[in-house]
Parts: sequence; structure tokens; C-alpha cells
Amino acid sequence: MEVALKVDVDTHQGLGEGVPRLMRALAEVGVTATFFIAMGPDNSGRAIVRVLKNPGFLKKMRRTRAVSMYGLRTILSGTLLPARPIALAYPNVMRALARAGFETGVHGYDHVRWQDRLDEIGDSGIRGEIEEAFETFRAVMGERARCFAAPGWRTSSAALRALDAIGLDYRSDTRGSAPYRCAVDGETFATPEIPTTLPTMDEVMGPALSDTGALVRFYLDRVSPDTVNVHTIHAETEGMGQIETFIALVRALKERGARFVQLREVAAGLDRAALPVCPVMRSTLPGRAGWISAQGAESVAAASSGAATARL
Ligand SMILES: [Zn+2]
Repeated sequence: MEVALKVDVDTHQGLGEGVPRLMRALAEVGVTATFFIAMGPDNSGRAIVRVLKNPGFLKKMRRTRAVSMYGLRTILSGTLLPARPIALAYPNVMRALARAGFETGVHGYDHVRWQDRLDEIGDSGIRGEIEEAFETFRAVMGERARCFAAPGWRTSSAALRALDAIGLDYRSDTRGSAPYRCAVDGETFATPEIPTTLPTMDEVMGPALSDTGALVRFYLDRVSPDTVNVHTIHAETEGMGQIETFIALVRALKERGARFVQLREVAAGLDRAALPVCPVMRSTLPGRAGWISAQGAESVAAASSGAATARL
């Protein structure tokens, strides 16, 4: 059974505090991971203030203790106080990740702008976000990024087109069940997509799963030996307030025989031509606000591979 940990780093504090803690904790248990880092300004304060104005989300924020985990300075970042940089504030943390053997990739530029306004900023706005992000990655790491994970699991045909033009090894933009190639509005994209297959801890944490044992059992019931299980965590939650629960889960998965892999290893093992072509749908998930991009059912018309023909 294979498990790939995808660590999304959305904020200044997530990279400065959450990532070093995760690096230490993962090294201690001998487990690797892929880190996707937002390269640009930390405007998360704007997102948090928007969420706080919505009474439905307030309940969830209390449940996950997001406000106490993010801290006041993050809430003020991009609102009352100027937005703090993320990657450029902690280039040494990013380089330390690579030195320690972890994989690093791009998680957008301005995470909040992408997540909240993807459909408004237009093709040139999307291309701008992507160019700034990859340029910053290169400036920090001294080499170009090979992979991308969309902020908030939100993508569009314009985003997929711009990312295809870069020629990446893979993307991990969506939620789904197994690697595929994306089709949107009749257009099929070349870059393999490796979707997140498991629900995130903040989606499943509720009154019924408030204790670590229940949470661990929840995941042990859901990991599959038939696919690469991709589990997304956040530097701001699993790397900070929830780190003990997260490490308990990692230990339990190891005891169950899980082999932890990086997403680039998964990508290297994919035969691009044989991947199913699946539509990317806009969908919602229990425990998550707003829409996410999800893998739809394999399109037989678009898939002209032997596998599809054999099924007919
Ligand atoms: Zn994110």
C-alpha cells in the first residue's frame, strides 16, 4: 500500500513554523513527503475575515480552532497590516526541505487571489500568477519547479492550458481517485494529474471524530491497496496545532504496512499515453466551503487507448 503525503503551505507562518516542525517530525518517523509552497504574498487574513463573516463557517472555525491556530498576525496579514511574503521570507526553509530529500513544488503565487478569484482574473491574470510563482521558485531554489498544486483544489481550462505550456512532470490540482489526464470544454491536457484521494483532516474533524483514535480508524478504513493514496495536509494545521494527531496517523499507517512515496516517484511511474482522460468537474465536499475541482468519470469518447476499447 502506497501513501503520498502532499503538504500544502499557504501562509508565511505555515512556512516559517509549520514546515520546520513537520520536517523534524517526519524525519523522526522516517517518512517522506512533497511540499507545495505558495510563492507570493500572504493575504490569508482576507480569506479568514471573509470566512468569519459567514455564520455557517464560524461553527467550523470554532470546531477546528482555526483562529487560534492561525494566530492574530496571520489574520491581519493583507487586511489591517501589509501582506507578508511567504517563499521570499523563508528561502532557507525551502532549501532545507530539498537538502533533507523532500520534494518541493509550487502552490500558486497569491493563494487567496487564486482561490477566491480564479474565474475573475482572466487568462492573463492566471498566466501572471503562474509566471510569478515559477519565477520566485527559481529565484529561491536555483532551478525550475517540476510540479504544481492548485490553491484550494481549484482549476480552470485557462489554468490547465498555462500549466501545460510550462511542460511539468505532473500536477496535483484536483480531488479524485487515481491519476488521469484532464479534459475541460472539449480540450484534453497533456500533463498528468495526480489527484488527492483522501479527505483532509479538517474536513473530517467533527464532534464524532474529535479523538485521535477515531480519526486514525477513519483513515485506516479508507486507504486502498489498489491505488496511490494521496493525502493532503496543511503546514498551518497538521504542522502546528494538530501535529500530534497527524503523526499518530502516520505511525498507524506505517504499522499497517504503508510505504510513503513522493509524488514525483508516482509521476515517474505513469505511462502518459495510457492514462485515462477524465473531465474535470466543479464539485463540493462535506466539510469544505465552496467548490473544488474533481475528477469526473472516464470519458470513453476521449480515451482512444487500448484499455478503453477493451471495455467496449
Ligand atoms: Zn492551499
